[in-house]
Amino acid sequence: MSAIDNLPPLREVISRHDLRAKKQLGQNFLLDLNLTAKIARQAGSLADHDILEIGPGPGGLTRGLLAEGARHVLAIEKDSRALPALQEIAEAYPGRLTVINGDALAIDPLEHLTPPIRIAANLPYNIGTELLVRWLTPPEWPPFWSSLTLMFQKEVAERIVARPGSKAYGRLALLAQWRAEAQIVMILPPEAFVPPPKIHSAVVHLTALPAPRYPADPQVLSQVTAAAFNQRRKMLRASLRGLHPDIEAMLEQVGIPPTARAEEIDLERFCALARALKAARG
Ligand code: SAM
Repeated sequence: MSAIDNLPPLREVISRHDLRAKKQLGQNFLLDLNLTAKIARQAGSLADHDILEIGPGPGGLTRGLLAEGARHVLAIEKDSRALPALQEIAEAYPGRLTVINGDALAIDPLEHLTPPIRIAANLPYNIGTELLVRWLTPPEWPPFWSSLTLMFQKEVAERIVARPGSKAYGRLALLAQWRAEAQIVMILPPEAFVPPPKIHSAVVHLTALPAPRYPADPQVLSQVTAAAFNQRRKMLRASLRGLHPDIEAMLEQVGIPPTARAEEIDLERFCALARALKAARG
């Protein structure tokens, strides 16, 4: 019997269902149920939320979430080999686990979830950033989720929480920190996974703020930061030249030296620049 439920240990589940990890699906499984319960607890209160999990695989984190009291988990898994194992979990927690077999990028989870909603996942590395950017850029804010608790490669996690002046600082940090609070809450060594990846991983917890930290038009802010960081070694007066003929005056107006580089500029000043640009365009 495993530590947290009456289901078999994950090693047994994997060998019984022949769930050998496939690299092309980004499969690095967590088999330690104490660890998955700990990750589940990082998500915050679970009994009063529906949880969206992407890529449950053999169900280690799913079991952690359910054992920690999640009222309902919607798990979207692309690999149909995992379905029998997930079905066993659904039977152990009647009415609390819904599994959808499909591609998380193509499925609208909202049809199956009741707010408030948290997202928790050990993400497949090949679609992790794409999903995060989607969740951070909905048409309206606040978004449909109240928190995200996500495992990434450590290097990606560092880009999400990076501060100005660091190498990791860029669009992902600005996007995440503009309308959410982002923190690395756990770092995991390769040996925590089967098979072990080459690098460390980290769990990032993001909480949606009720409103952006500083006002700005999302599209204009996105344009400014794209232009600034696509040529991050250039001075801003050069990298932003294409946005407006008077960009240099605008930079000065909001207190950004035109000779500065993107990585020196904080979120507040990027938002001020986006507002100035929008006003100048009329
Ligand atoms: N949650 C499990 C764990 O922690 O042991 C597995 C995590 S593994 C890193 C990523 C999982 O995402 C795999 O089960 C993989 O099959 C699944 N996956 C990969 N691409 C997917 C996609 N586009 N949509 C849904 N699931 C996907």
